[in-house]
Order: sequence, then C-alpha cells, then structure tokens
Amino acid sequence: MNGLMMHQPLLVSSLLTHAERHHGRQEIVSRRVEGDLHRYTFSDLAARSRQLAQALEALGVQPGTRIATLAWNGYRHLELYYGVSGSGAILHTLNPRLHPDQLEWIVSDAEDTVLFFDLTFLPVIEELAPRLTSVRHFVLMSDRDHLPDPAGPILAYEDLLKAQDGMYDWPEFDEAAASSLCYTSGTTGNPKGVLYSHRSTVLHSFAVALPDSVGLSARDTVLPIVPMFHVNAWGLPYAACMVGAKVVFPGPDLDGGALYDLQETEQVTVSASVPTVWQGQLQFVKRRHLRFTTLRRAVIGGAACPPAMLRELEETHGVTVVHGWGMTETSPFGTASVLKNTHLQAKPEERYAVQGKQGRCVFGMDLKIVDDAGRELAWDGVSAGHLMARGLWVMSHYFGQADNDPLVDGWFPTGDIATIDPDGFMQITDRSKDVIKSGGEWISSIEIENIAMGHPDITTAACIGVRHPKWDERPLLVAVRKRGSDVSAEELRAHFEGKMAKWWIPDGVVFTDSVPMGATGKMLKAPLRERFQDYLIDVGPDAAQLPSSP
Ligand code: ADP
Repeated sequence: MNGLMMHQPLLVSSLLTHAERHHGRQEIVSRRVEGDLHRYTFSDLAARSRQLAQALEALGVQPGTRIATLAWNGYRHLELYYGVSGSGAILHTLNPRLHPDQLEWIVSDAEDTVLFFDLTFLPVIEELAPRLTSVRHFVLMSDRDHLPDPAGPILAYEDLLKAQDGMYDWPEFDEAAASSLCYTSGTTGNPKGVLYSHRSTVLHSFAVALPDSVGLSARDTVLPIVPMFHVNAWGLPYAACMVGAKVVFPGPDLDGGALYDLQETEQVTVSASVPTVWQGQLQFVKRRHLRFTTLRRAVIGGAACPPAMLRELEETHGVTVVHGWGMTETSPFGTASVLKNTHLQAKPEERYAVQGKQGRCVFGMDLKIVDDAGRELAWDGVSAGHLMARGLWVMSHYFGQADNDPLVDGWFPTGDIATIDPDGFMQITDRSKDVIKSGGEWISSIEIENIAMGHPDITTAACIGVRHPKWDERPLLVAVRKRGSDVSAEELRAHFEGKMAKWWIPDGVVFTDSVPMGATGKMLKAPLRERFQDYLIDVGPDAAQLPSSP
C-alpha cells in the first residue's frame, strides 16, 4: 500500500519558486565584470530567470539540450542556473582556467548548442568560436553596448531578456532528468563529464544547508567565492534559494583586499573557498592589522586546510572553520568537520585536531575505507585505505560512458586514501597517486605539507615522492618562502622534529618561487615529480639529514 501523500518532483525550479514566494525581498549582490556593484532581489531573479527560459525557447532550445556558460560568479550566471535547468535544458558550466584546446574538447564532447559568456572571455570566444562546431548561438552576458563591433554572430543577453514578457510557467517533469553537467579537472587523461539530476541537486542542497555542514539559514549572508563554473559553487547557489540567505557574488576579482572589502561592506557571515584563496585573504588582513568583523563561518575545501590556517581563523578572528571534502563526482559535498557534542569540552588543541580532519557524513552520504583487496578497514583513525563513497548525490556513470561501470560493489572509488575515526571523522592522507611509498610503507604527503605550512616563513609547500636507491621513494619538500625570508633547508627540516615519525621527515628541501596550481585551485604535483624525480640520486639528501629508516 502506498502512502497517501502529494507527489512533487524535486526540481531545481522549485527552489527558485520557494525563494520568490517566501524570500522575495532578500538581496543578491554582485560585483560585475562591467566594474560596478549590482543589487537586486530573489523576486527579480525569479522574473528574469523566467524571461531567460522564454528566450531559450525562442532560440529553439529543447529539453535535454546542453547550454554552456563561461562565466564568473554573478547574478546573470545565477539566472542561467535556474533558467536553463528550470526549463528542462542542461546547464554545462565551463572552467575558463582550462586551456582553449581542452575547452574545445569539452564543448564538443558535451555537444553544447548555446554558449553564454562574460565580457572577460570575449577574446577567448572570438578565437575559439570557429572550432566550436556544435554551438549555434554565442551570447554575451551583458547589454548591447558591450558587444564587439561588428558583433558578428554574438547576441546580447539583455536583448534576449528584453524581448520576453516573463509570463512563463516552469514545466513539471521527472526529477531524475539531468539538470547540470560539470567536467572533472582532467589531471589524468581527458576530463570526464558528471551529469547531475534535479533530484540529486535538490537533495544535495538540503545537505549543504544542514547545521552539521555549511549551516545556512535566512539569517546568513553567503559569499560563494568558490566558482560557479566548477561543481556548481559547492551547491551554494541552490542552497541559498532553499533557505533564503542573502547572496554576495565576487565577480572576477578574487584578490584578498577585494574580497575583504566585499565581506565587510555586505556583512558576509559565511564565505566558501579553497585554501589558496583564504591564504590571500589572511595575508591581506594580517598586513593591515584588520579583523573579519561579521564573518562567522569559513568553509574551506577542495584541498586540505592547513592547521595553521584553521588556528588563525579561529583564534585571531573568532571564525569557525568548516573543513569540507568532496569531488565533482559527489556533487561535490561529501563531508564536513563539524564537531559533535562529545568534542565541546575538549581542549582547543584536541578540537582543532578534529576540525582539521576532512569531516563526517550527513544523512544521504556514506563512506568506507578498504585495503588493496577491497576488504573494509576499521574506523580506528589509524588504518588508512582507499576511500569509497556512495549516496543520494554521488555519480553512477560518467557522461557518455553508459557501458563503463566505474563503481565497485555499488561504491564509487574516490582515488583518495583516508582514515576514519570511531566518531566517523574521515581524514584524507593522500590522493592515491600522490602517496609516497618508502620501503613499502606509506607516508602522507598532506601531513608533511601541513607541518611545513605551519612554519612562519613558508607560504606554500608541496611534498612529492622521488626516487631513492634504498627505499624506492622518499619525500622531497618543494617549498615557497615568504618574501624576505632566508630560512634554510636545515632549519625547515628541524621544524619537523618531534612532530612526526622521524622516517617521515623529508630527505631534502628545495625552495622555489611558486608551486604550479591547476584550474581548480589544487597543487599540480606531476610536473614537480617530473622535475625532481632524480633529485636525491643526483644531488643527494640534505647535509643535516636525519636517519631515514622506515
Ligand atoms: P573539487 O574541485 O570540488 O575539489 P575535484 O573533483 O576537482 O573537485 O577534486 C576532488 C579531489 O580534491 C578529492 O578527491 C580530493 O583528492 C581533493 N580534495 C577535496 N577536498 C579536499 C580536502 N578538504 N582535503 C584534501 N583533499 C581534498
């Protein structure tokens, strides 16, 4: 016997309808590519998203058609989030930090038919357009005053909207339909498409909003710094509508000072970005002896949050760090390091140790760790194994690869190595391709980097496994010194003593000006491994080498 309850499909448009009816006067503030600050309400967003849906219809867009965007975080991009998915088409966000050849490959793989782009990307589009053979319309996300002369085939976004009256009813369809598409970073081989559904997107929004994750409410002002062009800005554009939080979009300028100004003037309470962007902000406020006066929670993910950053945000600014882990394949929210009541009486050091982990699951997401043979490992906080995920917003297949089942017994192999403690807090020790295998034992590159970045003279540190005649592989630290610092390799190596097992201490330290970063804010270790793979053989270990015996 079925329950006798209404059946309403979980659709992206229902988030917008809710925001319009119940939070219509709530604000959305955007720093625009055109240079000014734009301000409107959820009511305006809803009205313009309907006009956009009509405009798409006028361009001949059918349900299921892929519509690409190449854009920063801003209100027009948000209208595309709702207008495209709400009308039944699929929003495909492109990462502008990718190489044009990669963009060409992705657009062709997705068969995008319309491409919306911000003014910043006009030169890229002008160069790429002839190669994007599936794209029938290019739309500049601005008004006609900003069109190039001659505009050629490029349309102006505001013209498209002006031509429509907004009298549009969001269609109702199966919640299993696809809503948006995002490609993985493609650090190994070609990027792969992850196709989210309306159902997974709405359920993911609930999870993001929960108190034990981002904890978003109608009393918050959220600044999604994490880009809307990569994994839907961690679902914040949807979760904000779900709860009626004020939204502030930073546009293209992610400089520490620009972000700080926006945070203070708009009284932001929750801000979310990768560690490198947080580092820029912290450096800015430190240099000028400033404080975050309204910020309450700092959501940090995409790469490990260094403990020193966590401590600085908590102790200097009174900001609670929510350290999160996820990936494109998990929509992306997987875990968050929000404390349980058993931690509340703990000393700060113990609390930081828990918060520094990547966190625990909320309902809807599940994790396990397994050994090389697939046997599940204990949740003892020590045993490290391959991290496997499953849940209501975890991918089942890659886009266009229906015949290729990536799951193992119904679990998605994340490619991460992790421990899980008895309270369910997961800690990433490595990406499986980055793990350092010294004499058959594993050394965590992340732990070494965290300690290195805790040194007051170090801004960035990457630890890689390089060839060693006796132990196969040993850790080498590639570090960037703070401006003006002349800290030596010996001093840096001494900083590790007492903080980890002696045989984990890197055999060598190389100082560089910068560490290569990928398109999604992660350190690229492959080029470092290539460059330094024979360092210990050619140069040898540092003079003050400590015994390295696994
Ligand atoms: P995203 O850009 O959202 O991080 P990707 O799919 O590009 O998604 O990358 C996912 C990978 O990033 C994870 O498998 C993991 O290796 C790494 N990652 C994400 N968050 C963290 C974190 N908090 N700590 C360590 N690694 C992380």
